[in-house]
Amino acid sequence: MSIFEAQEFDDHEKVLFVNEPSVGLRGIIAIHSTTLGPALGGCRMWPYETEAAAIRDVLRLSRGMSHKAAILDCGLGGGKSVIIGDANSQKTPALLQSMGRFIDSLNEQYITGEDIGTSPDDMREIRKSTRCVSCLHKKDGGLGDPAPLTALGVYGAIRAGLVSVTGSAGLDGVTVAVQGVGNVGTNLCQLLHDAGAKLFVSDVDPARVDNAVSVFGATAVAADDIYTANADVYSPCAMGATLNDDTIPSLNARVVAGAANNQLDAPRHGEMLAERGIAYMPDFVANGGGLVSCAAEWYRDGEDEVRKNVEKIHETCLTIIERAEQTGTTTAEAAVRIAEERIARGRNDD
Ligand code: NAD
Repeated sequence: MSIFEAQEFDDHEKVLFVNEPSVGLRGIIAIHSTTLGPALGGCRMWPYETEAAAIRDVLRLSRGMSHKAAILDCGLGGGKSVIIGDANSQKTPALLQSMGRFIDSLNEQYITGEDIGTSPDDMREIRKSTRCVSCLHKKDGGLGDPAPLTALGVYGAIRAGLVSVTGSAGLDGVTVAVQGVGNVGTNLCQLLHDAGAKLFVSDVDPARVDNAVSVFGATAVAADDIYTANADVYSPCAMGATLNDDTIPSLNARVVAGAANNQLDAPRHGEMLAERGIAYMPDFVANGGGLVSCAAEWYRDGEDEVRKNVEKIHETCLTIIERAEQTGTTTAEAAVRIAEERIARGRNDD
């Protein structure tokens, strides 16, 4: 396949193929942009069926990271890396350390972190050969689990969505349907409950639902019924693609904001939501607290500063809503445009 002609190629600055047969490492590091800072993005380990699939994924994901970092204004560019292989059977300390040496050869242009198939423990292993690692456990000098900060960002996004449809960011008496009460969802329920919201929750794990019912007085809803719950807000905090042809027509909510990645099944579903007058807070902004936390880890910001930066997600969402209204685009498109403008401005300032 020709990388320069690939649909996912977007003038990426650098694409490095890494290969160390003695440890079974085959991978790719893609740096989309370092205009606004070092390119940060997780290291995905996945048994891609073809090299072309791995290339497409790393190009697409690294570009997405540039947009995410730019819209969150966190002093980072966008990158991503992939290791081709089965994380359960092929991941070894030697392989991870080898990946670290390749990352180190990029002289701080790329910073890695956890992703599908890698964990904070793997980051500790990679860090044996490079300092360009984020998302570390607290005991390893990192900021630890980003879920509470991700939840705080989602909370700010929900409040921005409410401003756009009701004129008020207040949560007292507002009803929120939280899909998935795992790490982020439970932290989010706590924030919403403290602010006076009424909760509906669903999860495929009954113990997690029971916990939300007993701790937050939430109403349990069957997994498939969360979309039609009589709630003001739908907050997807489980898996992607839940905003699709089947679910959007039945949504009762007027605001959608959650932590899950890739919530829109296809870009046109952003238009479907807008046509129904539903304020959709783009997933890569709403769930940006984790990335802001990784940025803070890299720049060694204190915990108060990180929190303040995550709280800015609320303002960022308001800016996106305003731009979408002014330009007649969806919020997702408006967010990407603002991000691209920031990157272009940064390039011109160089
Ligand atoms: P988690 O695994 O702790 O929680 C996910 C929960 O969703 C689990 O309790 C799971 O049982 C539940 N679930 C799975 N399928 C479901 C279904 N069909 N209906 C209802 N519930 C279902 O994960 P998390 O860390 O809380 O992350 C939640 C989502 O947010 C994930 O998609 C993740 O990729 C994304 N995200 C997380 C972070 C973070 O900081 N943890 C940052 C950005 C994005």
